[in-house]
Amino acid sequence: MNRFVTFIFCFGLLSTFTTSMARAQAVQDFHSYANPAAVRVRHLDLDWNVLFDQKILKGTAVLTVQRVSQTEPLILDTRDLQIEKVETSVDGVVYSAGTFTVGSSDKILGAPLTIPLPAKANRVRIHYSTSPGASGLQWLEPAQTAGKKDPFVFTQSEAIHARSWIPTQDTPQVRVTYTARVRTPRRLLAVMSAENLSGTARDGDYSFRMRQAIPSYLIALGVGDLRFRSLGPRTGVYAEPPLIDLAAKELSDTEKMVVATERLYGPYRWGRYDILVLPPSFPYGGMENPRLTFATPTILAGDKSLVSLVAHELAHSWSGNLVTNATWRDFWLNEGFTVYLERRILEAVYGRGREEMEAALGLRDLKEELANLEDRDEILHIDLKGRDPDDGSTDIPYEKGALFLRHLEQTFGRAPFDRFLQSYFNHFAFQSITTDQFVAYLKQNLLDSNPALAAKVPIDEWINQPGLPASAPQPTSTAFTRVEEQARLWLRGELTAAKIPAAAWTTQEWLHFLKTVQDEVSVPTSREGDRVKAADRMVELDQAFHLTRSGNSEIAFQWLLMSIRNRYEPANQRLEEFLMTIGRRKFIKPLYEELAKTPEGKERALAIYRQARPTYHPIAVTTIDDVLKWSGQ
Ligand SMILES: [Zn+2]
Repeated sequence: MNRFVTFIFCFGLLSTFTTSMARAQAVQDFHSYANPAAVRVRHLDLDWNVLFDQKILKGTAVLTVQRVSQTEPLILDTRDLQIEKVETSVDGVVYSAGTFTVGSSDKILGAPLTIPLPAKANRVRIHYSTSPGASGLQWLEPAQTAGKKDPFVFTQSEAIHARSWIPTQDTPQVRVTYTARVRTPRRLLAVMSAENLSGTARDGDYSFRMRQAIPSYLIALGVGDLRFRSLGPRTGVYAEPPLIDLAAKELSDTEKMVVATERLYGPYRWGRYDILVLPPSFPYGGMENPRLTFATPTILAGDKSLVSLVAHELAHSWSGNLVTNATWRDFWLNEGFTVYLERRILEAVYGRGREEMEAALGLRDLKEELANLEDRDEILHIDLKGRDPDDGSTDIPYEKGALFLRHLEQTFGRAPFDRFLQSYFNHFAFQSITTDQFVAYLKQNLLDSNPALAAKVPIDEWINQPGLPASAPQPTSTAFTRVEEQARLWLRGELTAAKIPAAAWTTQEWLHFLKTVQDEVSVPTSREGDRVKAADRMVELDQAFHLTRSGNSEIAFQWLLMSIRNRYEPANQRLEEFLMTIGRRKFIKPLYEELAKTPEGKERALAIYRQARPTYHPIAVTTIDDVLKWSGQ
């Protein structure tokens, strides 16, 4: 057993350690002020009123703590919380007034909340409220929802935003169980990443319990006019009334995906798997909150072509929620494994061809990203000290991480690698681990059994070096080869757009076609003749396939990106609508970046952003402020 495992997880043993020993064995998380080696939060009892008029949560958090040190204070992470008072207790019944100090606030980390603990005190009750600008909460006006009648609020805690709505040790190496009581306006329903204890009766008073210990970044709350539809014995979907039918239809393979994943990687350990479809300002594709994935409505394409997102978030129930990164520099352990699992689930449910297309698209995106990143950001085991952990959320942890696992699978064979993954998930279940722990386990349980094969995978290069090893797999897709042939014929003028046999193309084939022709259509020079040619080609494609009007968010995004590059004006209005209604960072960041490349484009971008900014999530606002160097114009 390696040293980190001993420290983090064998809590019974821990109490026999001296403080200094425990200290020496702690994994340092540069993104938390907390001191779990001395005092560790084990359980939360949360109680809030959801106040839409003030855009705040107001209430109490009772923290049950385990003390290794009897002399040191409890140190928590906070950001923009209004702390009214703090009480401590030795029995959870009688509380007495306590003292606290809030340290100076750092732009990235927020402020430490330090609470001295009297002898034997093991509970702390904090009376507090959040700020209207809390980075982990988005408050939506009725106009920003699908139903337009009621307000909506939802959380996004990953990476370090839980501290903006819960005073706790906001590091992935501290796992807590929790209960919550949430009071809302009567018409609305509250849901959390937990068991719902009060059924679906709408009385504005909801109770929740999470029995499995989870890191703070997986605590989640959503409140709105929500309906529920069952998708299977343990799966279901929540969405606003106008979206619930579409969502239930689109996500009807969810139960099948859970079964397929269990066959590959062992039992689903979280009880239910439900999905909450959020309003379109949700800044991510999905968030793997346990028992309740949060998802963007932009995956509802009408043909199940974008449900890879569900496979991804479901996969996190093993890679991420069950075995978690101990710090944010180990983030690839969450995301690389999850992208690898996602593609295995898609293969099991939709066949090998679908998996090949997703993997080939993934490699293409990764190569594009590698062309633009600095060396330090191309490393799986990235150094994020002094930086916002959200900066590490590039294609590197996702696609490079998945490619590394694909390399291991191809080298050692699928069956042995599957056995390795199953044992890995079992061995580290409900633990938060470091990259070093993974590498040690990999050596012991896969590499050492066959040194000749192990020599073919440059482990250190994969994990600690920028770029890709020369021996990295190059996933290809036979369907894509056919698409490339069509693209070539069209670009050479040997085929008109109308004659391209695209009627049965999947979203993935469309994306590959557009990305293939994009480089050829786009003319980055100012040569007038070339620009005219590019514009003609855009017109021809649009007339044949109505791409400007595409309701598929991925295809629309790719087309709009091309439209900006080629100054294709008929798409201007659609671009504005898209940026005004969708807040998913994956889409809006590249679009604003592309616009900002020319002075006219930048001006347009600022004009759109001025209107759209108040409707975006705080996380998206931080990103786009940076892209456009926004200073409140
Ligand atoms: Zn993920």
